Amino acid sequence: MPEFKSDSPVMVTGANGYVASWLVKGLLEAGNTVHATVRDPDNSDKVGHLTALANQTKGQLVLFKADLLDSDAYDAPMSGCELVFHTASPFVIRGVKNNEKDLLEPARLGTKNVLDAVNRTESVKRVVLTSSVAAIYGDSADLADSGKTAFDESDWNHSSSSHHQAYSYSKTIAEKLAWEINDAQDRWTLVAINPGLVLGPSLGKTRSESMRIFRDMFNGSLFPAAPDLTFGLVDVRDVAKAHLLAAFKPNASGRHVTVAGTMSYVEIARVLRERFGVKAILTPRFTAPKALIWLMSPLVGIDRSFVSKNVGYKPAFDNRYIRQDLGLEFSNLNDCVADHFQQIIESRNK
Ligand code: NAP
Repeated sequence: MPEFKSDSPVMVTGANGYVASWLVKGLLEAGNTVHATVRDPDNSDKVGHLTALANQTKGQLVLFKADLLDSDAYDAPMSGCELVFHTASPFVIRGVKNNEKDLLEPARLGTKNVLDAVNRTESVKRVVLTSSVAAIYGDSADLADSGKTAFDESDWNHSSSSHHQAYSYSKTIAEKLAWEINDAQDRWTLVAINPGLVLGPSLGKTRSESMRIFRDMFNGSLFPAAPDLTFGLVDVRDVAKAHLLAAFKPNASGRHVTVAGTMSYVEIARVLRERFGVKAILTPRFTAPKALIWLMSPLVGIDRSFVSKNVGYKPAFDNRYIRQDLGLEFSNLNDCVADHFQQIIESRNK
């Protein structure tokens, strides 16, 4: 059971990312010294919001340049740290040219490089890994196949591969590797956070896949009907809180399904019409027939195998463990959806 010295620095990989930025904010507000690894510390569009946060809080920010593919990059930022948050990993769902090079290799090698550095750094007591529900299941149809009513921490994604749902596969192999490396030693503990699709405002200028995924919601491309797709959702601020609890709660352990609830396109659209009125007039009202989606999907770059195994299926998630182990209370999902799209509306008006 690790006890942390309050004055030792903490390290965050991919610190400028959508999820990590909220985590860094929480750490800085609590007065921590954050060793933040980024690929491009001189790019103010990517790190400007972090330096601004450091100026407004009692914590300190030290930026380090590090790429997941570089085996030596993480020793210097990790020096003296007791806590390491490993959030960096490519999060891209559509338009990936080379799955191995763009997704699998950085996810797998990045986990190895960060955790090899942890093994070399005697001060580290705990690693919090940003995994995903994508490491828990691949396709929504997997739930029916499993005979269960909801996915939980005992499930592993067995249906994704380098050719089908490659992002989900990258998260699965990375998390499995992390547990293997953790099991081979007994100095540091590993705690995994497995969020669903993360929504909510972005602190930085660059846009995660989370901000791109619903970009067509308002522009009429999904009007009047959208695919019958259901998402496990969670607020980005809850995900950051989950990471902090996983780090600082001495007894925290294992994997954590981090999903507040599920919503389909049409259910999200209903919330948007309630909150944004006429601005959301072109949001979807109905679900489109699956056969039509299946026929059209190659035209918009979506694999038919994805349509077959996800459209019309309702995934469900059991979030009891994170509420019990970390004491996390999820915020209201309708408010999260509204905050997410408020930022999208504001950025469209600029
Ligand atoms: P994001 O904003 O795109 O952040 C990804 C971070 O990883 C960025 O800092 C990015 O750096 C870094 N990264 C990517 N490739 C790298 C490389 N080769 N070397 C070093 N850094 C690299 O996405 P996010 O949504 O915050 O995702 C953060 C983590 O949460 C990921 O592990 C993702 O799988 C996980 N997650 C996200 C969601 C979600 O819905 N957003 C859900 C579940 C899990 P650059 O800025 O330089 O590209």
